[in-house]
Amino acid sequence: MNILTGKNLSKSFSIKTGLTAKEDFFAVQNVSFQLKKGTCLGLVGESGCGKSTLAKMLVGLLPKSSGEIFYQDQPIEQFFYNPSILQMIFQDPFSSLNPRRQVGKTIGEALAINHKNLSRKDVQRAVEEILQEVGLEKEYAHRYPHEFSGGQRQRIAIARAIITHPEILVCDEAVSALDASHQAQVLNLLLDLKEKYSLSYLFISHNLQVISFMCDEIMVMYAGEIVEQVPRAVLFEKPLHPYTKALIASAPYIGKEKQDIVLQGEMPSLMQRQQGCSFAGRCAYATDRCQSEKPQLLGDEEHKIACHLYQ
Ligand code: SF4
Repeated sequence: MNILTGKNLSKSFSIKTGLTAKEDFFAVQNVSFQLKKGTCLGLVGESGCGKSTLAKMLVGLLPKSSGEIFYQDQPIEQFFYNPSILQMIFQDPFSSLNPRRQVGKTIGEALAINHKNLSRKDVQRAVEEILQEVGLEKEYAHRYPHEFSGGQRQRIAIARAIITHPEILVCDEAVSALDASHQAQVLNLLLDLKEKYSLSYLFISHNLQVISFMCDEIMVMYAGEIVEQVPRAVLFEKPLHPYTKALIASAPYIGKEKQDIVLQGEMPSLMQRQQGCSFAGRCAYATDRCQSEKPQLLGDEEHKIACHLYQ
């Protein structure tokens, strides 16, 4: 069953480029996906490719320009800000926590607001339990964010997100700000919680190793568009899109084709809508058709790809 579905989602921003002049910035273009219940769907791509913009649209932090989002088969809008459906974990745990509040109060806030029948003692007990669930001492509830390490702060952010037992967690670069040992601990914690609470994840990262560790299915994003969507095992064994191949080749420990493919140049400006393939400027296989005709994301349930080489 699909728990979260995006259909033809686009987001553009109008940006002032002069005294009266404005131009559109096309951050996300025509993105469709399905997140199956109980699975982890990864979204990987270079910084600035539109991953975080898509995440913010999904949780209602940014209005979409066009397209539709469904929770199961109902429009998501009625579930925005319902913490028992959808929660988000951000990259920087320090800036996502209020430095002047004891972490226990921050963690228990959503529970207290959404369950008015709970007494202060009930909320306090739930906070202590969830702190232990994420590997922290229950006494830490009385401390402030600056008293914790980066890894501990991200555990607190996770505790705040799961205390209301959401069905879907959107994790936006959730371990990027942590050092390697804390990354591994937090990733293992997220996997344990996924099993225990039957959570479904949309997991966003620029790091292919992290994505390969966490995800069942992976979408590769380039310049605001999905260029390949495939189960994890297939992606690393048989990537097809030239951008995906270059991304894998450039990842330490994963890249099997490291010697052969080097990703050169920059992502195109998102200030102009690309007429042809957005990767054409960096692709060794680009033809005239690639410059003039945009490839569509086509394929079967297992493997979708947006490239004229395969269409
Ligand atoms: Fe390269 Fe053309 Fe495929 Fe784009 S459509 S990735 S330019 S071969």
